[in-house]
Amino acid sequence: MKKRTLSFIAALALSAAALTGCGNASAKNSSEDSVKIAYLPITHALPVLEEAEELEKENGLKVELVKFGSWPELLDALNTGKVDGASVLIELAMKSRQEGVGIKAVALGHHDGNVVIVSNDINDGADLKGKTFAIPHRQSSHNILLNEVLEKSGLTVDDINVTELAPTEMPSALASGQIDGYCVAEPFGAMGVATGAGKVLYTSEELWEDSVCCGLVLTDKFIENEADKAKSFVESYKKAGAALDTETAKQTAEKYFKQSSDVLDISLQWISFDDLGISEETYTLLTDKVKKYGLSDNPPTYEEFVKNDF
Ligand code: ZN
Repeated sequence: MKKRTLSFIAALALSAAALTGCGNASAKNSSEDSVKIAYLPITHALPVLEEAEELEKENGLKVELVKFGSWPELLDALNTGKVDGASVLIELAMKSRQEGVGIKAVALGHHDGNVVIVSNDINDGADLKGKTFAIPHRQSSHNILLNEVLEKSGLTVDDINVTELAPTEMPSALASGQIDGYCVAEPFGAMGVATGAGKVLYTSEELWEDSVCCGLVLTDKFIENEADKAKSFVESYKKAGAALDTETAKQTAEKYFKQSSDVLDISLQWISFDDLGISEETYTLLTDKVKKYGLSDNPPTYEEFVKNDF
């Protein structure tokens, strides 16, 4: 994979809103009746946000939400035990588990919900040859989806320049011509469409049916020491996901994100949140792709990484 570093001069208006007010993960560990969960302000984390509203009302367990502006910052908090869990790119969590971090995936973040955005002069995958394409992290389903596009078009990552950018930077990087396309968590794909900077080349389900992307992970310490809380939390999370129809999802997103109504309308048509358990079949397909496209040679097994029996 070729990479190149891009520098950005302007303060990016599109990124400012999402980056403000990021949480402080160095705060104390969870108090007795709370669970501390890290997230990024993306629609892929909506079940956690929806759940936080309901769980305390239902059984007194408070969800302390800790917002981060980038995956590396969130991962650092998760890997060092400053939070009890996170809504995170599942491949990033798999890598942490592979490296010995005590975490388990207990649910999916969502189904589908990603798009491949390209500049308006690109009409098919083959047009990406020699172009620059941004993904949020090498360990992501966005990287897998890019590889699927290239394979469909008879190309590989060696035919393009792949760069890693923070999600918030991508729409403006496309608008300024610094990149030619990107794939990233929502609503940043929808922002590229809404501003007219780019268009959808593929939705994720056209490339990988019922694709997975984010997962809800909890630390082994929390699962073992707080078994009842962990069970309540995961059950409530799945219930919150099932309740997220497009209208509810939009209401929750408007409460937590500073995104326009138009952007959310475009974005939420691509995603679903029901049935968030992680089946062995789904996980096996994911690990096959992780190995095929070189994200990892040795991802954790289902037994090592997934807890689906709450
Ligand atoms: Zn996701």
